[in-house]
Amino acid sequence: MQFEQFPTQALMNITPRPALVFVRGEGSWLWDHAGKRYLDFVQGWAVNSLGHSPAALAEALAAQARLLVSPSPAFYNQPSMELARRIVAHSPFQRVFFANSGAEANEGAIKLARKWGALRLGGAHEIITFTDSFHGRTLATMAASGKAAFRPLFEPKVPGFPKAALNDLAAVERLITPRTAAVMLEPIQGEAGVIPASDEFLRALRRLTRERGLLLIVDEIQTGVGRTGKLWGFEHAGVEPDVMTLGKGLGGGVPLAALVATEAASCFEPGDQGGTFNGNPLMTAAGCAIMDAVLAPGFLANIETQGRRLTQGLKALSEKFGLGEVRGRGLLVALDLKSDIGTKLVEVAREDGLLINSPRPHLLRFMPSLNVMEDEIDRMLELLETAIHKAAAP
Ligand code: PLP
Repeated sequence: MQFEQFPTQALMNITPRPALVFVRGEGSWLWDHAGKRYLDFVQGWAVNSLGHSPAALAEALAAQARLLVSPSPAFYNQPSMELARRIVAHSPFQRVFFANSGAEANEGAIKLARKWGALRLGGAHEIITFTDSFHGRTLATMAASGKAAFRPLFEPKVPGFPKAALNDLAAVERLITPRTAAVMLEPIQGEAGVIPASDEFLRALRRLTRERGLLLIVDEIQTGVGRTGKLWGFEHAGVEPDVMTLGKGLGGGVPLAALVATEAASCFEPGDQGGTFNGNPLMTAAGCAIMDAVLAPGFLANIETQGRRLTQGLKALSEKFGLGEVRGRGLLVALDLKSDIGTKLVEVAREDGLLINSPRPHLLRFMPSLNVMEDEIDRMLELLETAIHKAAAP
């Protein structure tokens, strides 16, 4: 089938898309409508933890689809309890609410913080968030986000999200008032260009929020479920937050997210929170399969090993071409290009069968599957080198 024959006009135009249609995926590889193969270091934006259509995910979905899909969240179902049990067994949290997207999980965290403020802090409702942060595209999560491009959109904004500069504790302290209920941040700002909150900052923020009785909420939608080489990104700093949100890699490619909290912070009462598809057995069975794979012996250590290989390779390319910093943790890595050639590089690389992401014009971000192989990293680096040559050509 020719690209022109696909009914593209039936879709809302929410983003520019290249003239190709993906029809099949396997591991680190994707095939388009014309049979062309691509090495994928975007993986649905850090979603496909085990790569495209892994057997473990396909089998879990097929088996659960035959058994039970949607009994309604007003009844218990086994996969949701199994997945919640896995999350709490491997974290400092005790309670889980499942959602269908990262933004929805963050909306839940915002509601939980407001409820906490209403119950414990005399009606405090503000949540301090950070410049350049990204928490989603619902009205409240756009207001919570510090993404500059969101500022003029969809006014009036949901109020109550004063912004501090990341890694600046004094800036956070200045924003704390009797209206403050919580502080929310990404352990590594993903969309901003893989900008880490330093371990010292996270520790200081934990001390400060504890002293003031505020909730510390970590948005682990991009960094959670192994992406940084530890199960949760906050573990690198050795802190224990009150609330965590998960999405992306939790379902390994299917829509699954979670709001996770300590017993003390879990202050929702019946009627406060819910949703038709939330915690349905089909998606949570997928989540169980992904968690089992990520928790298997050696899996997390291998993310660190492959992350080092990727980082070293990118550093070598950076030196060779006079590019900038390589930063990140595990398999969430960015290369600073020092000039705004990101979009051109993405296009040139795609023509040669490599998918990479440029969240900022001067930056590339690499988010391969968590089980990416050495030879796939090496092949990516070769293709990237060719793309840099081509993009630099006049
Ligand atoms: N929070 C972070 C840190 C993210 O990276 C994203 C998505 O990129 C979101 C929230 C929103 O998740 P979703 O797109 O599933 O709503």
